[in-house]
Amino acid sequence: MSIQELKDRLAEIKKIDSIGAVLHWDQETYMPEGAGDARAEHISYLSTLAHRLHTGQEFLNCLKGLVNMETGEPLQPQTDADTRRMLYLAWKDYRDVSTLPADFVKELALLTAKSQQVWQKARVENDFNAFAPYLEKIIDFKRKEAEYYGYTTTPYDALIDKFEPGMNTEKITILFNRLKEALVQLVKDIREKGTPIDDKPMQRSFDVDKQWEFGLKVAEVMGYDFTCGRQDKSAHPFTTTFHPTDVRITTRLHKNNFKTAIFSTIHETGHALYEQGLRIDDYGSPLGEPISFGIHESQSRIWENIIGRSRDFWYHFYPQLTGMFSRPLVNINLDRFYKMINTVKPSLIRVEADEVTYSLHIMLRFEIEALLIDGKLEVKDLPAAWDQKMEEFLGIRPEDYKDGVLQDVHWSMGAFGYFPSYALGNLYGAMMVNRMQKDIPDLSETIKSGKLPIIREWLRNNVHSIGHRMDAEELIRKLTGESLSAEPFIHYLEKKYRDIYALPNK
Ligand code: ZN
Repeated sequence: MSIQELKDRLAEIKKIDSIGAVLHWDQETYMPEGAGDARAEHISYLSTLAHRLHTGQEFLNCLKGLVNMETGEPLQPQTDADTRRMLYLAWKDYRDVSTLPADFVKELALLTAKSQQVWQKARVENDFNAFAPYLEKIIDFKRKEAEYYGYTTTPYDALIDKFEPGMNTEKITILFNRLKEALVQLVKDIREKGTPIDDKPMQRSFDVDKQWEFGLKVAEVMGYDFTCGRQDKSAHPFTTTFHPTDVRITTRLHKNNFKTAIFSTIHETGHALYEQGLRIDDYGSPLGEPISFGIHESQSRIWENIIGRSRDFWYHFYPQLTGMFSRPLVNINLDRFYKMINTVKPSLIRVEADEVTYSLHIMLRFEIEALLIDGKLEVKDLPAAWDQKMEEFLGIRPEDYKDGVLQDVHWSMGAFGYFPSYALGNLYGAMMVNRMQKDIPDLSETIKSGKLPIIREWLRNNVHSIGHRMDAEELIRKLTGESLSAEPFIHYLEKKYRDIYALPNK
């Protein structure tokens, strides 16, 4: 058995996944409505084919010839670091795909496909009881899945590990408890003592074609390579990758909501820069994959929030923006605009939440997921638990299910364990930027003068091009000398928002 044979087999599977991604991208952007069923069949055929190749006897024989199947250690002791890591990741991926019985995977896929339809309808009709029996079944499946994967403390750990390798409920609980305490207090201070900001001009009419054009311009200045990517429109913005030389983003435009399009474009461009920055010669190898969902989110959130909602960023872009939107932005100076894009207001909907309250939405979901998977909360009691936590975290209560417990698609897809990654992304991002500031001492000037590719290069060298050569914990330690902590993110928010809301410093 040769390493090359394993690499070839992995590359073959990756190519099939990439082709599937093209079909999926097309489905979300240009596919005619009538093609849905045929497209679902095509996509499902490719994923079955990839799964068959990945779990087949030939693949297993190849892997067995190279790796100790108990430990993931190479059989040849003198293996170099990259190959050792590649073999370990290939072994871990193999365990993940081959652990779940084929029937289980198929049943869960059918259940979640149906559940998504039921959830969509239930959300529109504000009918939690219609969705509840499906959610109960999904939770049963997820518990079983955790049993198949195995865990030491709680089944929820096994599910988290699929999105955030190396993380677990205990570590996240410690991080989130500290974050929650700080954020709840900050939101309270802003509400009670902050100087209010009137952001109504943000709902004025902004020409959508110009919004589109402006978004493209910003993405280009950020260093997104349009010869290896493009932007299209879709119902929900996303980024997808076929290869580091073909990374696509989408956005959505609303005439009376300028913030949505521009910040979703910046967010998705952040994801896309990560994918464009993966090494081309790593394509097909597990080394060429992003580290985790949380690290991916760190990239989008650094760009969207820490850079994209900074005064320095708009120092550069605001003159261009007012040039394009002279009517809606008439008499609004940079300082006012900066405050309007950074208003903090507890709201019911996660995807519309501001930078300060966003993580609270995530922590609420994390606590609820942990209870549901552990069997400490029953689905019938879920809406009450949701409302009570909204009150505790954000001081508001939803009046119906659709703006409360039914708002997210994730649970209907069976994606338990995914939510924490969003908030972890904020924590990773703040720590990375602290290090970036040391390496680029004139960071503020760099942003002010629009030299954003300098930042992209820093991220490329320190994060993107590493691929999956290390896990998140190791990367953060390498960059900052410390392990993951909530403090840098809290410090960043305190500094920024105490200034914006004219609150005394802590
Ligand atoms: Zn994202």
